[in-house]
Amino acid sequence: MLEEYKKKYTKVVLQYSILNFNGNVLESDDALFLGFSNKYIGDIHPFFETLTSLLIAEENETIFSCIHLNIVDKTITADIILQTFNDGKNPLLIIHDLTSHYKNYQTTAQVRNESVINSQILELKNTYLKEKESFKNTFIANFSHELRDPLTGILTFTDILSKTNLDLQQKDYVQILNSSSSFLKKMIDDILDISKIESGNLELAIEPFNFHALLEEIKFTYKIIAEQKGLTFRFNFDEKLPKIIGGDAKRLQQVLTNLLDNAVKFTNHGGITFNVSLNQLRAQKASIHFEIIDTGIGIEKENLNKIFTSFTQVSRANEFKGTGLGLAIVKYLVELTKSKISVSSEYGKGSKFSTNINFISSSSLTLKESKNKKKSILDTSKKYNILLVEDSEITQLSVLKILASQGHFFLDIATKPDEVITRITSLDHEVDLVLMDIKLKEFQGDAIAKQIRKLPERHQKKVPIVAMTAKLYKEDLKRYKKAGIDDVLKKPFNESQLLEIITKNLK
Ligand code: ADP
Repeated sequence: MLEEYKKKYTKVVLQYSILNFNGNVLESDDALFLGFSNKYIGDIHPFFETLTSLLIAEENETIFSCIHLNIVDKTITADIILQTFNDGKNPLLIIHDLTSHYKNYQTTAQVRNESVINSQILELKNTYLKEKESFKNTFIANFSHELRDPLTGILTFTDILSKTNLDLQQKDYVQILNSSSSFLKKMIDDILDISKIESGNLELAIEPFNFHALLEEIKFTYKIIAEQKGLTFRFNFDEKLPKIIGGDAKRLQQVLTNLLDNAVKFTNHGGITFNVSLNQLRAQKASIHFEIIDTGIGIEKENLNKIFTSFTQVSRANEFKGTGLGLAIVKYLVELTKSKISVSSEYGKGSKFSTNINFISSSSLTLKESKNKKKSILDTSKKYNILLVEDSEITQLSVLKILASQGHFFLDIATKPDEVITRITSLDHEVDLVLMDIKLKEFQGDAIAKQIRKLPERHQKKVPIVAMTAKLYKEDLKRYKKAGIDDVLKKPFNESQLLEIITKNLK
């Protein structure tokens, strides 16, 4: 019975043929293909032609895998084995039919290849997107950097101009100059923030800060701003609010001022209410609830979820000055603290923005002594030599004007690395501080700083270096520090910021 089944179902997969050394088939079982006997193998299929050179009287086995054979009207995929012997026996040709094996293999291989190809395509797409994104972010960073030089000039000279003798009309003009350039500065800062957010470079700096003082400052500022527009400004600060908390004070201030700015901007009658209360105090965490309520133009229901998208302004917003970036930044910053911002509004009646933010709260929190307060008192009997490394004429002029008005600085200007080194190593006068733009047209400031730090004379290589830059990404700051730069002044800067950083770093 078994033998019968075997006969019926055994699939023949092997064919044996004996050849002579000239490649003629002497004998064949023709199990797969008929009519091999007495033929020259090269005539049966061109592939066999390759075998003839291997027909030698030596012990050897050669295997050719996955050979596609199409003979008369039968097609198979086979392994071909040629066995030769050293004892005078004739070579043996074995054809091993592996069609179904290779078919399966091919299907799996194809599926595998396709998935490899797909993941490669995905990878390429990702690389492309990443490159595009990083190009966009670098472009934004560089472009806003370029904008900062002229803006520093405008801000500085508006400041200087406002302190001169002006008639009433001129004062008005200066006021307009001031508010336009401040708006421009805010826009550039917002664009830089958005590009930092999109490139994943924006992180919170968690430090203890005086929360009461921050709220008082905001209250003071917005009371004036609201009242100037004829609006009332109410505030309710919970008595239980902790005085010192741990968090990013600068970013909290940014969130609140963005929301309060909008409240004032979009309200023409009535007023603004600013509520801050303690939600919960538990396990060294304070959850604080903030609410900013206005009686302004309101937002239509269908627009409520659009307003947090970058560059989005809705309904009557085009009557008001803005970029549509403020709320996108607010949402991102709030989400960085693992919280959410919510809005409710009635069109024509007003809006309410609220959020709960978690801060660190513990009795062990103490305020760090602010670096800025560590002012060294300048020796006013001495004149300090400041070497400015800067190729923007506007910034050169701004710095010159500010330092000249103080009366105890000499300013020297250099634009190239060799000039910088010559000035520092000159025996005429010792340089007391180097104030250097990081991105000069042809040189990088950090490279120059490295050269300075390698000078042989101790007092020369130790000269304080303050960099001026708009690029304050974490990795940039690390790079500056590594190059030996002592401090960084953010562009655009005003008179007091420049004087403060110089005074702080002078030895
Ligand atoms: P911007 O204020 O620069 O236009 P924002 O991102 O801060 O950008 O706000 C986006 C849009 O959301 C605004 O243009 C406005 O249409 C709407 N909006 C924001 N806050 C208010 C508010 N308090 N009242 C009415 N509309 C608001």
